[in-house]
Order: sequence, then C-alpha cells, then structure tokens
Amino acid sequence: MAQLAEEYQRTLVTGGTGLVGSAIKDVLIDRLVNLANWRFLSSKDGDLSDPQAVDKIFSDFKPTRVIHLAAMVGGLFHNMANNLDFFRTNIAINDNVLRASYETGVKKVVSCLSTCIFPDVVQYPITETMIHQGEPHSSNFGYSYAKRMIDVQNRAIFEKYGFKYTSVIPCNVYGPNDNYHLQKSHVIPGLIHKFFLAKQKNEEAVVMGSGAPLRQFIFSKDLAKLFLWVLDNYDEVSPIILSVDEEHEVSIKTVAELIAKTLGIEQELVFDIDAADGQYKKTASNAKLRSLLPGFQFTPIEDGIKESVEWFMKNYDTARK
Ligand code: NAP
Ligand code: GDP
Repeated sequence: MAQLAEEYQRTLVTGGTGLVGSAIKDVLIDRLVNLANWRFLSSKDGDLSDPQAVDKIFSDFKPTRVIHLAAMVGGLFHNMANNLDFFRTNIAINDNVLRASYETGVKKVVSCLSTCIFPDVVQYPITETMIHQGEPHSSNFGYSYAKRMIDVQNRAIFEKYGFKYTSVIPCNVYGPNDNYHLQKSHVIPGLIHKFFLAKQKNEEAVVMGSGAPLRQFIFSKDLAKLFLWVLDNYDEVSPIILSVDEEHEVSIKTVAELIAKTLGIEQELVFDIDAADGQYKKTASNAKLRSLLPGFQFTPIEDGIKESVEWFMKNYDTARK
C-alpha cells in the first residue's frame, strides 16, 4: 500500500509521555521535524482502555499513522503481583486502539511487544518467528499473552482489510523519563533510585535476586530512532526485534555495578537472594534488523546509564517515582 507523503501524515503516538514516547519526541525535535501533525498522548487525554475515549481521540485528531506505545508497563515484581490487571488492561487498550485504527482507515500502526513475551523454554537466540511457540515465563504471563494478541490481531486485520499494521519487539529499555518507582519499575530505573537513596542515607545498596540473570538493554533514544525507521521503512505485518547485539547482553550484577560506579558508591553491593530472579535470560537475535538496517550504532550501556543517572538527579522532584 503506497504511503502518504510526510507532510500529509497525521501521526498519533499513544503513550507519548512515557519512556519511549518522550524519546521519540526528543529525536524528532533533534531532527527539527515540525510537530504540528504529531500528537503525543498521555493518559490525561483519555483512558485508552475505554473504547469511547479512544473513538473520541481518533475522531478529533484523525490520524493517518499510529505509534502505539500505551500500556500497563512494569518490571518483574510489579508483573508478578498483578498478572490479571496486566492482561485485562493491555488487552483492552490494544483492542481499542487497533479497532479504532482500522475503522477510521489508519494506514499504518506500529505497536510494541517485548522480548519478555517469548516462550520460557526456547532455543537461543530468540527470533521473531518464536513468539507463539510455547508458554511465557510464569512471572509475567498476563502481560505476555496480552502483548502476543497484538500480533494475532495484526495478522487478522491484514487478512480482512489489507492494512499492514505491524509490531516491534524491544529488549529491556531504559533512559530519561523512565518510571523510577521503587517497586513497580524495571531494574535499571529501580536500582538508580534505590542506590541514589542508599548513598544519601549511607545505607547498603541492595540488588534483588542473585544478579546472575542476563539481559539485553537498549537506550530509549536508540529505540526511538529505530521506531521512526520502522514507521517509514518497514513494510511487513510480522514483527521485528529491536535489540542490541547478542554479545552486548550483560548480567544484572554488571548493570548494578555500573549504576553504583556512576553514582560514586564504593561499598560492596548486597544481593537479596530470597527475591525472584525471573527468567534467566531472553537472548534475542537482531539479525533481521541488522540485515535491513546495517551499521546502526547503539549507545554503549556505560554512556546510557550515565545519561539516565544524570537525568534522574537533575529531575528528581518531577521524575515518576
Ligand atoms: P511508560 O514509560 O510506563 O509509559 C506508558 C505510557 O502509556 C504513558 O504515556 C502513559 O500515560 C500511557 N498509558 C498507560 N496506561 C494508559 C491508559 N490506560 N490510557 C492512556 N494512556 C496510558 O512505558 P514505556 O516504557 O515507555 O513503554 C512503551 C511501550 O514499550 C509499552 O508498550 C511497553 O510494553 C513496551 N516495552 C517497554 C519496555 C521497557 O523496558 N520499558 C521493554 C519492551 C517493551 P501517562 O504518562 O499519562 O501515565
Ligand atoms: P525483566 O527484564 O522483564 O525481567 O524485568 P526487570 O527490568 O524488572 O528486571 C528483572 C531482573 O532484575 C530480575 O533478575 C530481578 O531479580 C533483577 N533486579 C534486581 N534488582 C531489581 C530491582 O530493584 N527492580 C527490578 N525490577 N528488578 C531487579
């Protein structure tokens, strides 16, 4: 399906005020893109789990393209405690946004899955074709099954209406404007906040779990650039993994040590081995991305963590926490 020229596009970004949405906005501002035809939604613009609110947003703005980021999002411990809410809220949001998109003739939707929705028992490295090949890890099955249904719905929409709605699969994301909540966040923002307080109070810096699990982490601005590339250039319904290379997978212990070093914490870290580790690893292959977009340079994790820590300290009063 031929794409409209950029000046005729009206692009709606759901979840536009979150970690990924605000990075996309920052990248567009860096590129001097006129944002008059872009709309970055927050939950204050309407609860996307409510179909009427979604219909109103679509009929007011009349998007031609949608980047769909809005979701109930959280780290391991928030997921473990709330599988039902993660499932129901995300099923509702995704169904409302995708349904409103095809009903109003939106030409392209790029939605967001995650490498944590893949089967728990899987052959590594994980590739795009494996999404539905087994049960997800028990810790986040609600979020995982809800996200997997986006891919099912995209395929069904293409079959019925011919729209090439697609999805991307990022690894663990971090950066400015993250959710730094002490219990609900992902590991990097959670540890930045926790270690920041530990340093202030001269207390132990505690890492949950053994520190052994392995993760790939992508800096939010890198993901934002890749999202915009997908929006303009990727023409498949089937999803694409947006992750750093496999050899840049790191242990939670390494990440914790990097955060501690960046904050100037010198004492030994304490590992709470009674806390959950979650899935041991989710090593994903970015071969498809590399074949379509060779040469993309990812931000080294040391630089990304430094920028995230500096952002958190500078914005401590207003940061989500
Ligand atoms: P985030 O920082 O928590 O932001 C979530 C965004 O969704 C916010 O703009 C929030 O609005 C909005 N939102 C949440 N519930 C809503 C509702 N019911 N109605 C309307 N808006 C709602 O999340 P993120 O980390 O940027 O995640 C973006 C996408 O990437 C999500 O689809 C997530 O599943 C996916 N993803 C994230 C990671 C990660 O490590 N963070 C990894 C892989 C995939 P308010 O700001 O007003 O609350
Ligand atoms: P995941 O990558 O989807 O599993 O989600 P997280 O970003 O929450 O990372 C979870 C991993 O980090 C697990 O191995 C946790 O045991 C470990 N971890 C260590 N400290 C923390 C913390 O303070 N918060 C979170 N969310 N995870 C932590």
